[in-house]
Amino acid sequence: MALTAHSIDVLSEKLVDVAIRMAVGFKVRNFKLKTTPSSFESVIGKALERASKQLPRVVNGELHCGLCGKGPFSRKGLYLHLLRIHRYEVKSLIAEELQRAETLG
Ligand SMILES: [Zn+2]
Repeated sequence: MALTAHSIDVLSEKLVDVAIRMAVGFKVRNFKLKTTPSSFESVIGKALERASKQLPRVVNGELHCGLCGKGPFSRKGLYLHLLRIHRYEVKSLIAEELQRAETLG
């Protein structure tokens, strides 16, 4: 079973908030995607990990945005910044990583 362009779009939309929470170090409740077969969970996990690593940038011990360099932010501040300003970019990042993770297996 392959991820279609449509399912990648739907999935990445659902994962935006999770990825941003991971990026700023908030706890992520055990999220379950009801429509997702368990074989996809590792693909999704890898994609989330890779995408979320690109979102924060720590400069001199302070938290900055990894996408536009703004900051410093508190963790909550960066969470809100990413969600409000970079929602679409974060979604694209996740979609790219989902495709890559699926290709690599
Ligand atoms: Zn930014």
